[in-house]
Amino acid sequence: MKKIVAVMLTALMSLSLLAGCGSSENKALVVGTNAEFPPFEYVGDDGQPDGFDIALIKEIGKRMGMEVQIENMDFNALVAAVGNKIDIAIAGMTVDEERKQSVDFSDNYYEALQYVIVMKDSEIAAAADLENKTIGCQLGTTGMFTAEEINGADVKSYNKAVDAVNDLMNGRLDAVIIDKNPAQVFAGKFSDKVKALDGADFEFEPEYYAIACPKGSALVADINKALKEIKEDGTFDKLVNQYIE
Ligand code: GLN
Repeated sequence: MKKIVAVMLTALMSLSLLAGCGSSENKALVVGTNAEFPPFEYVGDDGQPDGFDIALIKEIGKRMGMEVQIENMDFNALVAAVGNKIDIAIAGMTVDEERKQSVDFSDNYYEALQYVIVMKDSEIAAAADLENKTIGCQLGTTGMFTAEEINGADVKSYNKAVDAVNDLMNGRLDAVIIDKNPAQVFAGKFSDKVKALDGADFEFEPEYYAIACPKGSALVADINKALKEIKEDGTFDKLVNQYIE
């Protein structure tokens, strides 16, 4: 009799242990972002980071059974923080060769292009017009790398893109180079003063956003699986409609 009770107790204990291990529901996925890049990430009215990327990563986390915890930091600090301070980063981050030396990227989730913001009365309209100009951009971004390639350009970098737009309106810059969707948001916000010009007119090349993960991490496959489901079941398009279009 004693033996049967003991066996049953052992069985019960291992069952509850198994249940404990199987539930990853409360495991946190710490996600770094820079909430200065609308509509992908910004600080919402409630003071919390919101935007397309935030909604997307929460949906991915849900499907991975992980609770997403957002850490807001400088864009320029994100890549080095992946695998240390944060598990992964989502920040409208363009896949590029240099970043790939430090992180592994998920599948691409969005096509982007650099745009040019200028004052409404500016004559800048094509690539050659940007030569020898003072150009603002966000520090460590592909907009900055693009500006640095322009002949004779005096490049000024800011931690927040909106500060570059403010300096443009204050007359300290001739143009700001930044990704299309944020450019459209800022141009819309200050539409009495500035306009956003299509990067195709400047011969800029398309870029692709992806999620930065630690090198060699199993997270990449899990994230890609969730991302694929989200695209296939229409959730992705719903988020695009809600936040971008
Ligand atoms: N897509 C650009 C990059 O990856 C800008 C991203 C951002 O400013 N959040 O550099």
